[in-house]
Amino acid sequence: MAIKVSSASGATMSSGVHRRPRLMLRPIRPEDIGTIIRKHKTYPSPVRIVGCDYSQARCVGGDGGTLVDTSALDKILEFGEGFVRAQAGVRIGTLVRALAERGFELPLTPEIANISLGAVAVTTLPQASFQDGLAQMSACVMAMKIVTPQGKELTVTQREAELLRVLRSSFGLLGVVHEVTLRVVPLRPVKIDYRAYSLEEFTARYAEISAAPGALRLHLAPFSDRVTVERRTFDVGHTTSRSGIWQIRNSVMRNVLPAFGASVGSVLATPGLRNAILTGVHKALGATQAPAARGVVVYAHEWMRDLPAEPWKARYTKSLWAFAAAGYPRVLADYFAFCRGYFKEHRYRPNVVTAASRMHRDRSSLFSVSYNEPMLSLEPSSDGAQGWADFLIDFNDFAASLGGVPTFNQSRALKAEHIEKAFGERARLFKALRRRTDALNRLDNSYFANLLG
Ligand SMILES: Cc1cc2nc3c(=O)[nH]c(=O)nc-3n(C[C@H](O)[C@H](O)[C@H](O)COP(=O)(O)OP(=O)(O)OC[C@H]3O[C@@H](n4cnc5c(N)ncnc54)[C@H](O)[C@@H]3O)c2cc1C
Repeated sequence: MAIKVSSASGATMSSGVHRRPRLMLRPIRPEDIGTIIRKHKTYPSPVRIVGCDYSQARCVGGDGGTLVDTSALDKILEFGEGFVRAQAGVRIGTLVRALAERGFELPLTPEIANISLGAVAVTTLPQASFQDGLAQMSACVMAMKIVTPQGKELTVTQREAELLRVLRSSFGLLGVVHEVTLRVVPLRPVKIDYRAYSLEEFTARYAEISAAPGALRLHLAPFSDRVTVERRTFDVGHTTSRSGIWQIRNSVMRNVLPAFGASVGSVLATPGLRNAILTGVHKALGATQAPAARGVVVYAHEWMRDLPAEPWKARYTKSLWAFAAAGYPRVLADYFAFCRGYFKEHRYRPNVVTAASRMHRDRSSLFSVSYNEPMLSLEPSSDGAQGWADFLIDFNDFAASLGGVPTFNQSRALKAEHIEKAFGERARLFKALRRRTDALNRLDNSYFANLLG
């Protein structure tokens, strides 16, 4: 039977996002999940699931109910021909490294290792993508085993394409995932190039930048008017040599940024000092963008980094909205102006880099941010110090006014009107489906009830 971890009322999970479950359980067998869901009196509603607990939005939300931690369901079950099958509590970092040892990788690889496969299957994790149809992590999911709101076992494969599309955006509201099958491909060397532009140059060359092949990641510096374009292309002939400069960049991302976040938050109080340090971080990143850094070749698992096991220790947090690729230079100009205006008025600016990714069109999940067309994100990040929460409230309204699309798990401080504007009919369809599949409201929580109405 499931291990009972805690029964403290008002418990707080390690991320520091207050969730208030009555019970916290850590099942050791998939069958335990069905038992928990069926026993309404012993295990109060809502039954909510937590994987790595790295979502900064309140999508886990315990709400005085039963929180189910999947971390003990941590086995990779099968390395098959073109696929891998694993339990929901396996961390993506563990899986990606095990695949790399065997010469394989997922079609997409995120930059952080702290994501459970359960979250990969049911949340929105947009990545810098290489091709149409594969822009969110859940697009790599070929099948999943879930426990329904009635406590019944259900296996869903690509034969039930519509059901899979809805489940890939279901956040534990239509069932609890305990096993996931993901597509795998042979390891591909990726060539990485950087080029820095002023906003004006970026705008002038945008058509050419976006037409060239490969995945795009941007590093944005609104206060020094800089857009650094990181282009990732498959190095099929493996023509370029590997370079030590990548290790420096990785080290900046892995060690410097989190430590920097912690020190800024706890040691430095004045905005002036913070901003000086922020400029230092931009300079450090700039070193990796020197001519010597061009044409570096890496494998995807090498760009992945582990944040601390307890999320609050990372002191590093971000929010994400996506915008139509067609009008992105205009969005960037408005964002730079927004950041400057906000700083002038409130003396606050996010003190870690703002990143962005280009996502190809991907309809494999209902709440895909690039469901209708190719998109580019804006991902301001911060150490979470005072001022960040207020900044996000204004940033959300700014993003919504430009037709932006948020996510339920990576965009913080959302309002119902943001969801209605971005998803409209899709949100209503999901809500109707939820009502029909979970009439007793076993899996819903206040976060989703508020946003979906
Ligand atoms: C500093 C920082 C950097 C980040 N960088 C990246 C990045 O580079 N790339 C990227 O893709 N993301 C990134 N993220 C986003 C983050 O990784 C994800 O939002 C998060 O990790 C999702 O995984 P999790 O296991 O922590 O999910 P959790 O937060 O534990 O859960 C997320 C949602 O999924 C549901 N859920 C989880 N498991 C199951 C299950 N088994 N069955 C049903 N429902 C389930 C939960 O109830 C919840 O609604 C970053 C986040 C932060 C804070």
